Amino acid sequence: MKEIILIKDGELALKGLNRSSFEAMLMKNIRWRIKPFGSFELKQSQSTITVNPLDDNADLDSAADEISRVFGIAGFSRAAVAEKDINDILDIAPVYLKDQLNEAKTFKVEAKRSDKKFPLTSPEISAMVGERLLECFPHLSVQVKDPDIKVVVEIRDRAYIRGNQQKGAGGMPVGSSGRGMLLISGGIDSPVAAYMMAKRGVELVGIHFASPPYTSLRSEEKVHDLLAKVARYSGRIWLNTVPFTEIQEAIRENCPEEYFTIIMRRFMMRISCMLADNSDCHALITGESVAQVASQTMLALGCTDAVATYPVFRPCIGMDKEEIIKISRNIETFDISIQPFEDCCTVFTPKHPKTRPQLKDVEEAEKALDIDALCQRAFEGIQRICITSEGVQE
Ligand code: ATP
Ligand code: MG
Repeated sequence: MKEIILIKDGELALKGLNRSSFEAMLMKNIRWRIKPFGSFELKQSQSTITVNPLDDNADLDSAADEISRVFGIAGFSRAAVAEKDINDILDIAPVYLKDQLNEAKTFKVEAKRSDKKFPLTSPEISAMVGERLLECFPHLSVQVKDPDIKVVVEIRDRAYIRGNQQKGAGGMPVGSSGRGMLLISGGIDSPVAAYMMAKRGVELVGIHFASPPYTSLRSEEKVHDLLAKVARYSGRIWLNTVPFTEIQEAIRENCPEEYFTIIMRRFMMRISCMLADNSDCHALITGESVAQVASQTMLALGCTDAVATYPVFRPCIGMDKEEIIKISRNIETFDISIQPFEDCCTVFTPKHPKTRPQLKDVEEAEKALDIDALCQRAFEGIQRICITSEGVQE
């Protein structure tokens, strides 16, 4: 029996004139994401995408699992393919849905006829299929409201028969909102921020600041592991690793200790914006949340943003740590984030950071540094790798 996956667009349906470009983006993303699982043909019409395995080697289980994490999808289901002939439909439905119907107590049948040339009306198809299923599964009863299983028969280019739909990942197709520069640390918050923005259709480019030998290679690998988990939702991510040691040492030697963190964060912003210019990104993304640490008071965030030439998105800004952790568990980044490796932020943490920094004081404190030269050297030392859900790509 031939089986396919039927996908229903999500929020896309609302986007009016842009719809066809959103749909094209979603198709492209699905195609990329299921490529490792064999040859498939994708077709799209009337807010539905059909994913057709082209040979017996195509792995439909893995493709369906992957599709459950592709943004822009409201729901999906596997479906049996029948000829556009009511007898074929009546033969296939009970066989294909056997396991599901054996488990269920109540059901209903809904027919959708997009091919109006089909000789039976939708209510006629529903009635005939319902009757056949009752014959084959006498323990079932029909229930119109909230049945255990809704059997759907769709008459399109072929006839498709399916049971309950699975919920999709929601959101918008990655790329449909453009690109954003993700400041990724090894902590809990930034991978969650990444996931939330990818869900809004933002394609992610990663930037990580490393301060060897104060930070170890293992802490960089931790960032790779985190991004591999995020890539299960966002698709592949290019990661840029910035050598940050010289800047941190210069801050430590030349600036008042209470401003260390805020000045360091302003350097991160400047270099991220330089990279954003070069990689077609239109916003920065961080994992900050108000009042979580000294550098995340409103005044401190204001001093950080003063050097940014792009909007800074902080999707975790109003969330409690508990709420952030819940998402990080769902996306499987939590256990990686809590591994104890040092981050460049923790290396030179001041004992008494300023929680109410004034911009003019921060600017004054920075005057001891050759900001442009430091940024330029760090920028020139950037190393770039590509990360997919499989890990670092060689
Ligand atoms: P996280 O859990 O994401 O590490 P945090 O609560 O530990 O966040 P900070 O360490 O102050 O907070 O960092 C705030 C944000 O700054 C992070 O969410 C991240 O976006 C960015 N950031 C911090 N350190 C780095 C780094 N080494 N490289 C890139 N971005 C960083
Ligand atoms: Mg951190």
